[in-house]
Amino acid sequence: MEVEKLNYPTERDYKSTWKQSLVARIILGRFLSNTWISFSFLISKKKLNTQFLIDLSYRTIFLYFFMMGIIGCTKLYQINRSSLDKKVDQENAVDSEEESFPYKNTIRRSQFVFYSYKKMTGEVPLFDELEVMQVEIARNLQLPLSTHLVHVYLFPTEEKYRTFMHSKYPNLPSRRAFFVETPGSRGAAGTLMVYAPWTDYIRQDLRHELTHGIIHASFHNVPLWLDEGLAEYFELPVEQHGVNRNHLETILHPKKTQEKFEPNLARLEQISEKNTRLLQNRNEYRESWAWVHFLLHHSPETKQLLVSYLHDIQTNPHPIPLSLSLRNMFEDPSLELINHLHSLPILQTSKVRTHP
Ligand SMILES: [Zn+2]
Repeated sequence: MEVEKLNYPTERDYKSTWKQSLVARIILGRFLSNTWISFSFLISKKKLNTQFLIDLSYRTIFLYFFMMGIIGCTKLYQINRSSLDKKVDQENAVDSEEESFPYKNTIRRSQFVFYSYKKMTGEVPLFDELEVMQVEIARNLQLPLSTHLVHVYLFPTEEKYRTFMHSKYPNLPSRRAFFVETPGSRGAAGTLMVYAPWTDYIRQDLRHELTHGIIHASFHNVPLWLDEGLAEYFELPVEQHGVNRNHLETILHPKKTQEKFEPNLARLEQISEKNTRLLQNRNEYRESWAWVHFLLHHSPETKQLLVSYLHDIQTNPHPIPLSLSLRNMFEDPSLELINHLHSLPILQTSKVRTHP
């Protein structure tokens, strides 16, 4: 996007207008003094005759048009002055618009285009990491690398981000960052956009929201629980191998105030079917993450089940639910999930065990 430059009068234009006006005033002064001298002469000589009246009429007509010229100059100046003020106001308005929506500076990394108010330099290592993440997700889910763009708008502060989101998407709930998709035609991905403020959580937030972008660029009809589960999984830096220690800690050692972890994939699938825009609470995000981790790491068979399911839902309007496929694979999938989570090391990141 480009900002259309406004043409407005400059200080130089003012000075030249003033010069014109000054020259006009000198000429007028000379004209009036000449007229007065002639008039005084004729009075003194008592020559107020017809010739004098004709001469006076010509001079009056000339004076009228000349005065209009002077008024014209002054008006021109006033118009210029007021139009300058108006256009300066317009320019200020453009500035405030720029302040509310980042688009001036862009950096592109594979399918991501990052936008911000100011030139980006310190952000580049994170952008490079996100480019690697795209490859990592494509490899895990057996996707071709998509070129469908994801537009990422970065706000310098949380306040600016919230003000913008509130004005553009007043019905969305308050979130740290957002992924938004406008509808595409014939089942294709629409315009994919991410909005995020540059805070201490930016790495996690961008990894999460861009995961949604990558998935939506390649897949449609992804159930809500799976969409969020994959985003919760890939939001973690690669060295954590998808192990979300906060989720794991809460699942394995819930506090008295926290609900006991009782996984039920069929229930999560029903939430998606009801087309709830967002999962209700952190427990559902947590459970979604747990199922995705289980599917990707329990065994090559569970991973293949997930990949096949993602590809199946692209063409099959009635795919076999994953909960049903898991029941065919395991006697008690929920118990298998809990055992899987107990097998994960929760201590040091460096000691995390990798799974197939
Ligand atoms: Zn999400």
